[in-house]
Amino acid sequence: MPATLEVKCTNDECELDMFEMHYTYDMPDDVGVSDFQCPYCTRTDTLREIEL
Ligand SMILES: [Zn+2]
Repeated sequence: MPATLEVKCTNDECELDMFEMHYTYDMPDDVGVSDFQCPYCTRTDTLREIEL
């Protein structure tokens, strides 16, 4: 299965708690959470992957 990531935004000002990202098989291995931005506050340095 392609990777599924649970991601949390750690910006205190942001009302987004967490979201899930679903990759396809074509996503390169070196793409990580730091390559994305928060869909709500659009910051890139506040996203953390949640280890389940
Ligand atoms: Zn945010």
